[in-house]
Amino acid sequence: MTDEKATIDAIAKAARAADTVTVLTGSGLSAASGVPTFRDPDNGLWADYRPEDIATPEAFERAPDTVWQWYRARRRQLEEVEPNAGHHALAKLARALPDLRLVTQNVDGLHQRAGHPDVMAFHGDITTNQCHVEGRVVSVDDARDTPPRCPHCGGLVRPGVVWFGEALDSDLVERAVAAAGAADVFLAVGTSAEVHPAALLADLAREGGARVAEINPDATALSERTDWVVRASAAEALPRLLERALAGTE
Ligand code: NAD
Repeated sequence: MTDEKATIDAIAKAARAADTVTVLTGSGLSAASGVPTFRDPDNGLWADYRPEDIATPEAFERAPDTVWQWYRARRRQLEEVEPNAGHHALAKLARALPDLRLVTQNVDGLHQRAGHPDVMAFHGDITTNQCHVEGRVVSVDDARDTPPRCPHCGGLVRPGVVWFGEALDSDLVERAVAAAGAADVFLAVGTSAEVHPAALLADLAREGGARVAEINPDATALSERTDWVVRASAAEALPRLLERALAGTE
């Protein structure tokens, strides 16, 4: 048995025995779907813009049309991609295990499209829109070149994502912290673990007694504080983990 197989077996065994498994996903999980990661050097999306010129409330207030059109282009790109084998495997694992909780930093909606039953989308969901003034979710036609007005208060409508410098939804933070604290096994998938507070969840889980696993082709800030490391693409490793977890339940 190779080291990688043995590691995946060990994680699967621990997941089967766990009361609660908590999973944190990042943009690496969606890479195999063709969605560029944030730090991808060939990332066409961010190549022409600095994040602070697009993904901040100040940028939106300064140039609402530019920001609106940038997000519209991202949405159109996402319509062309599909959830990959990793998203599907996690959704199946969530149905197979008694208590799997998923926190994602991704805004691409691919977990939801893979049928994942309950997603804590820490940084929002790019497929949604909200009022920039009151924050309430609104349903609008995004085909236009300028942001529409909120039907309730007349404020500008913006994408339903959390921008740099903005607070996370406090209920979600509470749920995610509880999920990390409750975890017997914590799985970090495709995240560089550099963006806080999501990056702190692994440490909270460990302090609460969880064993921590990482699935990532590259080393991260978390790697040295894990019990298991699988150096592979999430789209390859997660289906194997699912298979091993299900094999043990037969
Ligand atoms: P990141 O770009 O900082 O890190 C991505 C990680 O994924 C890296 O550690 C990389 O080694 C790993 N990776 C690359 N290919 C992989 C693969 N095939 N399988 C597994 N791992 C792989 O991304 P982050 O940690 O998610 O943080 C960046 C921030 O940018 C987040 O806040 C997120 O909201 C946002 N973002 C989201 C998306 C999306 O929704 N898909 C895309 C880009 C950025």
